[in-house]
Amino acid sequence: MPTGVAVKATKSNKVDVLIIGAGPAGLMCAFALARAGVDSVRIVDQRPTKVAAGQADGIQPRTAEIFKSYGLSDRLLSEGTQLHVAAFYNPSKSGGIELTDRVPDVTATDSTNFPFEVTLHQGAIESIFIDNMRDMGVEVSRPVVPTSIEVDEALVEDDEAYPVRVVLEHTESEPEDEEHNEIVHAKYVLGADGAHSWVRKHMNISMQGEQTNYIWGVVDLVPETNLPDVRNKCAIHSNNGSCMIIPREGDKIRLYIQLDGKDVIDDGGRVDKSRAGPEMILNVARKTLHPFTIETPQSYDWWTIYIIGQRVAERYSVHDRVFIAGDACHTHSPKAGQGMNASMQDSYNLAWKLAHVLKGTGHRTLLQTYELERRKYAQDLINFDKKFAKLFSGKPHSELNSDGVSHAEFLQ
Ligand SMILES: Cc1cc2nc3c(=O)[nH]c(=O)nc-3n(C[C@H](O)[C@H](O)[C@H](O)COP(=O)(O)OP(=O)(O)OC[C@H]3O[C@@H](n4cnc5c(N)ncnc54)[C@H](O)[C@@H]3O)c2cc1C
Repeated sequence: MPTGVAVKATKSNKVDVLIIGAGPAGLMCAFALARAGVDSVRIVDQRPTKVAAGQADGIQPRTAEIFKSYGLSDRLLSEGTQLHVAAFYNPSKSGGIELTDRVPDVTATDSTNFPFEVTLHQGAIESIFIDNMRDMGVEVSRPVVPTSIEVDEALVEDDEAYPVRVVLEHTESEPEDEEHNEIVHAKYVLGADGAHSWVRKHMNISMQGEQTNYIWGVVDLVPETNLPDVRNKCAIHSNNGSCMIIPREGDKIRLYIQLDGKDVIDDGGRVDKSRAGPEMILNVARKTLHPFTIETPQSYDWWTIYIIGQRVAERYSVHDRVFIAGDACHTHSPKAGQGMNASMQDSYNLAWKLAHVLKGTGHRTLLQTYELERRKYAQDLINFDKKFAKLFSGKPHSELNSDGVSHAEFLQ
């Protein structure tokens, strides 16, 4: 077990649950615990402010149902964009691409109140939680990072104990300030601190899986285009590459574009963001979209490039006292639109169980079902993502490429 460090800390607090990371997973947990009547909840984040633009943006029907169960779906629907139709474009005989099919974006329409996807940028989703938590007296402490964590193994089975000791650093204060360091004694800790999770590393939890060769560029913009399906979700396969279009709130769209590794990978095999830019990503998209055109916008809302890792944590908890959730325990491509959804559903699953155990209406063994249920979900998602990423990145079927991915295969 990692050991704590001796620090000069004047403040020492006890909390039922300390959440490290205020992204979608951490905020869902803090909100759900507060709503369940757990009033000793603390949530901290290293960023001085919440996400301003970009990152994840898709809310799936099951997540919208969770929002509805908390009375949050009206705001989600009023701020987001609904996606009802998915359009498919494939190579045409004259070169370029043509429309192959339009289908409902969500197929099991009779089993949900929300037979569509909703898109809204991550910062706006985070605001829904932050605003509603504030009404229940829970605020995110920022910018704050943990510097040490230790679990007292002798106390982990004692329901009344606070066996996890975490030292927090308030990074905007001076080291000599009284409030610079703080010691928190917690009954439970959740690491919801993203793909490079500090909590996961300090609990010695390894990630299992691989990096892939698929490199994607993402750009958010208001488009000027003659592509007729630009307000539908589009999956586009051309002989010049693949692209996905996601309509977004306002008049924005997001383009996901497959990039050639040699353009953006450095000698050490890492993605070098300085070799790309929104203009470069848009130029690749233009080749895929031909004969349709897209103008250069006056400005871009957000952009990034990334290489897909398909990994899941070997375990989700240590002694059922320290847990990890969200990107901290699973990473995969964003094309199935599940990253933020799976992350919030992890902590939704954990929060009601923690609330029962803390209130004495559930036995601690209930907490074991978190890893049992959510790790299996992540493994299934990654298996699906492997197939999907391969199909999406594969060359399309054509007269010259009979082994390529057919539309029927992709639709299935
Ligand atoms: C740059 C980037 C681009 C992305 N692009 C897309 C995309 O295009 N499409 C898509 O679907 N998904 C995308 N994702 C993934 C998506 O954002 C995640 O799947 C989703 O947000 C998972 O939620 P989470 O709460 O688990 O993690 P995150 O959203 O990563 O939240 C983790 C939080 O923990 C905080 N944190 C991290 N370390 C510490 C620490 N040591 N101490 C305190 N706080 C800490 C972070 O500041 C952050 O607020 C992107 C993620 C990133 C980082």
